[in-house]
Formats: sequence, C-alpha cells, structure tokens
Amino acid sequence: MPAAAIDRAKVALARAIGDSRVAVDADACGAFAKDESEADGRVPDIVVHAESLAHIEATLRIAEELGVPVTPRAGGTGRSGGAIPAAGGIVLATAKLSRIKDLDRKNLLAVVEPGVVTGDLHAAAEAEGLFYPPDPNSWKSCMIGGNVAENAGGPRAFKYGTTREYVLGVEACLMGGHTVRSGKRTVKGVTGYDVTALLVGSEGTLGVFSEITLKLLPKPREIATALGLFRDSTSALDAVTAVLHHGLVPRCMEFLDPPALDALRSQGVAIDARAAALLLIELDGGHVEADLMDLGEVLSSAPGSIDVQVAQDAARRAALWEARRAMSPTTRKLAKYKISEDVVVPRSAMSELLDRVAGIGLREGVRNLTYGHAGDGNLHVNFLWNDRAEDEAVERAVSQLMDATLALGGTLSGEHGIGLTKQKYITREQGPALVQLEHGLKRVFDPKGLLNPGKIFPPDGTHHAC
Ligand SMILES: Cc1cc2nc3c(=O)[nH]c(=O)nc-3n(C[C@H](O)[C@H](O)[C@H](O)COP(=O)(O)OP(=O)(O)OC[C@H]3O[C@@H](n4cnc5c(N)ncnc54)[C@H](O)[C@@H]3O)c2cc1C
Repeated sequence: MPAAAIDRAKVALARAIGDSRVAVDADACGAFAKDESEADGRVPDIVVHAESLAHIEATLRIAEELGVPVTPRAGGTGRSGGAIPAAGGIVLATAKLSRIKDLDRKNLLAVVEPGVVTGDLHAAAEAEGLFYPPDPNSWKSCMIGGNVAENAGGPRAFKYGTTREYVLGVEACLMGGHTVRSGKRTVKGVTGYDVTALLVGSEGTLGVFSEITLKLLPKPREIATALGLFRDSTSALDAVTAVLHHGLVPRCMEFLDPPALDALRSQGVAIDARAAALLLIELDGGHVEADLMDLGEVLSSAPGSIDVQVAQDAARRAALWEARRAMSPTTRKLAKYKISEDVVVPRSAMSELLDRVAGIGLREGVRNLTYGHAGDGNLHVNFLWNDRAEDEAVERAVSQLMDATLALGGTLSGEHGIGLTKQKYITREQGPALVQLEHGLKRVFDPKGLLNPGKIFPPDGTHHAC
C-alpha cells in the first residue's frame, strides 16, 4: 500500500467526517490489529469510528477513489481473523452505531444498528416480552453487525436456527459509497434475488451493514435445564439421539468430552469423578414440566448414564450451566496457544469424528479437547500447545481434522466463518468451480477487491479457481 495513498486518505477522511472520528496514531490503531482468533494481527493505518450511514458512505467512497483497503469491524470477538486488517489500510469500526431503533411488538421485529451488543438486544427484547434466539457464547461483547456477517450460531441454534433465520432485511453500503436496502419488514416476501441471504455470512467482504431488521419471537414462558453425566462420549452422544427419538425438541444440547471434563477439574470445577462425558440440555415453551420429567427419564435410562440433575428455577439452572460456561475461559488458561475449530458433521458421525480426533492428537503429539453443540453436530475441537516449535504439528493436525470432517460428510465451519484461518481449506470442501463462482460474485460487489481483502478465498493461485 503506497504511503502517499494512506496520507491522502487520512486528510480526506478527516475532512469528510471529522478529526475526532479518524484515529491515525499507532497506539489508537493498535487495539484494532487482532480479533479473538490465533491469526497474526496487523495494525491498521487508519481507524474510522463511524457514527452514521453518511460516515460509512464517505469512508467507502474515499477508500475506493484512493485504492485503500477497508476492513469492517464490530465487537472484534471473531474466531477466524475476519476483522483483522490483513492488507493494512482502514478499519471501519461500527461499534458506535449502537442504537436499537425500533422494537415493534405488534409485528415482532427489531430494527438495529450494527454496533448493538447481542446481549443488550436479548435484554431489551425480553423486557418487552419478546425473544431474539441467536445466542453466540460471546453475547456479552459481540455485536449484531458481526453476528450477521458471520451468520453466528450458539447453543440455541438446534431449535431456533442461526442468525440467518432472523435477518429480514439489511441496509448495506458497498465500496464506492453506494447504499442498498435489501429484504423486507414482513414475514413473507420473495421479490427479486435474495440478496439479504447472500450478504448474511459474507464475512464483511461484500458490503458494510449500517442497519439490520430482525425477526423476533414471543418470549418462551418457561425454561428448564437438565445435566447428564455419562461414562463415555459414545453413551452421551447416543443419548442425544434417544432424546430426539422420544419426540423432545430441546432448545440446546451441549456436549463436553473426557479431556474437556479433565480440563475443568484441573481448574477447580467440581465434576463427579466417575463421569467422562457431559450433556447439558435445555427445554423451553409453554408447559415444560412434563417434558422435563420425560427428559430426565430418557437420560437416566440411557446406557452409560451415571447421574442426571434437572432444574427449573433460574439460580439452579445457572449452576447446571457452570461447567459449559467455564469451558472457553478454562481452555484459554491451559496452554500458551490454542486453536478452536468449529467443524460440523452429521449427528450420527460425531462419535467417529471424536475417535479420529483422538488418533490425530496421538499421531501428531498435540493435546486436544472437544466440546460443542451436539444437537447440531457442531463440535469445537481445540488444539493446545506451548511451544512455537510445535506449530507445524498443529498445522498438520488441523489439516487432518478438516479432511476427517469432509470424509464424514461434514463442513469446515458451523459458525466462526472462513476468514483468514481456514481459507487454505475452502477449496477442499467446495471445489474450484464453486469457489470461482463466489469470487465472481465478490467482483460484482467490489471490483477492485478493496473490501476486507485476503479473507475467505485462498491466496492467489492456490485454489486453482481464478
Ligand atoms: C468466548 C467466545 C465464544 C464464542 N462463541 C460463539 C458461538 O457460540 N457462536 C458463534 O457463532 N460464534 C462464537 N464466537 C465467535 C464470535 O463471537 C462470532 O463470530 C461473532 O459473530 C463475531 O461478532 P463481532 O461483533 O465480534 O464481529 P467482529 O469480530 O468484529 O467481525 C466479524 C466479521 O464481521 C465483519 N463485520 C463486522 N461488522 C460488520 C458490519 N457492520 N458490516 C459488515 N461486516 C461486518 C468483520 O469484517 C468480520 O469479518 C465466540 C467467540 C468467543 C471469543
């Protein structure tokens, strides 16, 4: 990136949207170098703190005119490097666009800006007797703009689906500064191509969201939680199938494998010493008591079951969630470096995937543990290591995990996106023809390749597609 173009961009941006919203010194820009992935960060040359659609439009117009790359950013909690300004240039921070503009109880929808923290939308909706189901575990700090760009999921996705199911429409600004509105405010609507669906999950590479219209549901009247302990992973995963065959539709079914339980114990979380796998299952709806009793019976009578606890009041439910909620922070403490993958396989293949992960770990000598959303077949396989000398073994382990996932009929990412960390594998799943088609779509939205460059698509030439 020529220094002259960056200097001209600094002057033009400060003039167009005001000095106070344009950060250029290394300290202020340093905080925008990384996200929550293990990908290497890069300090941007400029950070624009947008406070209106006009600021986004001006930024994308100036960037296009001067040929400067732009990386959109919301909460910075991404796990695939999506918000890292890999090519330098401008980070377009949308966190200050944080208004909930409308909570429409009659039509069950919300109109929000991209910087609304997901947990704040949950609270605001629930205060009105409404419900916004997508619940990435980062809900305290991730934002709706990032959730829409990554099509975020979470524990409740089994019953309620991912963010995609709730996006009715978006206002998005394209490179060059032109804004389009796609979608609708109605429940149904099939006019034209479904551009909204294309933009959801586009990882900040096609347009920058300035407003999002979301579908809401009535708040479920009751919630109940069950925790089941099992002697091994296969017993626990078979119990997931038994629950579904019994006709129950839980809103979440979370799973922790034996190394995950050992990790929690090592950090002081009390878990029955006989247990080698854990299921956390949650029900919601009108009258959950009878369903909770059924669920308790199904779990207790499942082969390999060791103990089952159930709860309906908020404090006891929170206590049952303790082990699951502690999983991500605990994993962070176990080793200097970790990679958290989020592969998905058909539910029936989860046990086989766990066996293959154990084999990969042994073969490459890399510590691993797995937990995740068993209802969706979406497993967070974590590789942990302490020494940079082990980097190559970890890379081989990740590559073998991707191959095992695809061989079992799965997909590389259930919720974290491809970003920087999985771009080298995308062609293995999608094949060159589809990757080439997607690259063509990218060029329609962003002919100069300036919006979040270096993401999703493999580095030039390696995917044999373009
Ligand atoms: C502890 C922890 C738990 C997590 N649990 C889950 C989970 O359960 N489920 C899940 O799905 N994810 C989870 N994640 C990953 C992450 O929180 C999600 O991917 C989340 O959606 C990212 O939102 P964000 O606001 O932080 O986005 P960022 O990290 O800021 O950005 C993510 C992507 O969105 C793009 N983007 C940001 N704002 C805009 C905008 N206004 N317009 C267009 N593109 C934009 C960025 O360019 C980037 O590509 C977890 C992360 C952590 C750290």
